[in-house]
Amino acid sequence: MARYALRYPDPPAVKPVVISMLHPAHKWVALTLDDGVPFDPRILALLEHDHIRITTFLIGQMVKARPDLVARMKRDGFEIANHTWDHAGLRHSTDAQVRTELSKCQRAISAVTGDQAPYLRPPGGTTNKRVDAVAASMGYRTVLWSRSMADTSKSATPAQLYKRTIKGLRPGEIILGHWGRPQTYAALVLILPELRREGFQIVTVSDLIADSGGPEALK
Ligand SMILES: [Zn+2]
Repeated sequence: MARYALRYPDPPAVKPVVISMLHPAHKWVALTLDDGVPFDPRILALLEHDHIRITTFLIGQMVKARPDLVARMKRDGFEIANHTWDHAGLRHSTDAQVRTELSKCQRAISAVTGDQAPYLRPPGGTTNKRVDAVAASMGYRTVLWSRSMADTSKSATPAQLYKRTIKGLRPGEIILGHWGRPQTYAALVLILPELRREGFQIVTVSDLIADSGGPEALK
């Protein structure tokens, strides 16, 4: 399967692009899990059990604190991507602050995986053209999402998360969830078998891009 390994450090700049949905040839979707703090190990075990490879946007501080988990994700074939050093809002940061947030997170990731993270997900999904341009100059494409599990809601039940994730799901969607929210695991227990029944395959963002015409086709 095509991967877009970048050299580290100093990967080549890319064209600024914001990806929230793709148009793959296959019935594929990307499940993306963010933060890593808190962390529910049951989710990782569930994905491993089903041999599902995802893209995860980790906070640099978490990567530094739990290199064991990150190394395990790398062994699992996960794509480890940048979610800033400390979950900083980037929209109101200076260019220099954006660079520092990304490179500190990148250093933590590379220390464990040896890889350059190919994507940035700005915390809260709040970005702008300037942030995307700084990220692109550092080799990152910005990845948002087309569908949220809404697992940050404290009152939502697993059944509600399930419905929100499954209803009307189309190939090429990028689904946002989080590693440690109270209902995420229980919702995924419902969601994963239903996706299989519906013929969806969960892939990484890079695989979704590759199946959608490759990076050259990104607008
Ligand atoms: Zn986040």
